[in-house]
Amino acid sequence: MEFKLKTGLATKYSFILALTFVSIVGCKNEPMSGTTDKKESVTPVKIPRFNQDSAYAFIEKQLSFGYRVPGTEASYKCKDWIVNKMKSYGADVEEQDFKASFLGKTDVDATNIIAQFKPSNKKRVLLCAHYDSRLVAEKDADESIQNDPIPGADDGASGTAALIEIGRILQENPIDLGVDIVFFDAEDQGDNDGAQDTWCLGSQYWTNNPHKRKYNAEFGILLDMIAAEGAVFHKEGYSYQYARDYTDKIWKLAQAMGFGDLFQNRVIGGITDDHFYINTVLGIPTVDIINTAGMSSGKTFGDYHHTHADDINIINKRNLRIVGQIVTAVVYKTYDRSFKKIR
Ligand SMILES: [Zn+2]
Repeated sequence: MEFKLKTGLATKYSFILALTFVSIVGCKNEPMSGTTDKKESVTPVKIPRFNQDSAYAFIEKQLSFGYRVPGTEASYKCKDWIVNKMKSYGADVEEQDFKASFLGKTDVDATNIIAQFKPSNKKRVLLCAHYDSRLVAEKDADESIQNDPIPGADDGASGTAALIEIGRILQENPIDLGVDIVFFDAEDQGDNDGAQDTWCLGSQYWTNNPHKRKYNAEFGILLDMIAAEGAVFHKEGYSYQYARDYTDKIWKLAQAMGFGDLFQNRVIGGITDDHFYINTVLGIPTVDIINTAGMSSGKTFGDYHHTHADDINIINKRNLRIVGQIVTAVVYKTYDRSFKKIR
């Protein structure tokens, strides 16, 4: 399925691109191919359809394992499922084990999952999400269950599900672009009263010990809490600080695709999330797409955040599809070089 871009700017741009395409073919009188004169001659691709039902089923599947707290049986089962799923889509998958200490637990066995599509391709895009769910529900109104783990349907499972679906899409619609999909463990076990680096343990480990020496990607996108009812995506502060150009392009694309109700232009403060370490340690400009619907009521996140309300009922399939479709579009537009030209 191909998206009709709705704004005048984008339409004009598509038109100019179409003209460029025609004139290159006309001047050189050569067949189009992805390999000759790569800079000019990548054929514009159709953007595949992101399947919301498939992605939704991947959320349900993660929840079926139980609470994916690092070091638990549920977490290991979920990890194995993600690994096998990504292998079945043709990715080279590495499991990166590390020890995580959090919320009174020490040296828990945790694992990042790194799924690489076209691993030898130099041009790469990084997509990531955390697959762990939080050990406690400190924001729950019911104090008696604040020490119980949350389902994490949105906080963890939604971003993970969208990336698994994108893995499926990449297998069905192969492109000559390296895509690394990294599922971080132990993102969400931080101490609200503690240091910033009590969060994002998986991404801290990976950025300091990347799976490949001198690992690099052109840019990255982190998905965290993308599918809750009432979601709003503002331009998050660290994304804006370290990856402003990519942030602006993603938001412009989203708005051109008709999703300006979700992707709003307001720039908000920085949020400590996995992208912070990718930006600051590896220097890969990385954008966080994260629901900050609470901004309108003086909070940051939605009311369900770190409560037991973060279960399957909070998931809105349209929101899941919108974010998944936008990220899919970014990937395919990076391949045919039309993403870079968004202004
Ligand atoms: Zn969280």
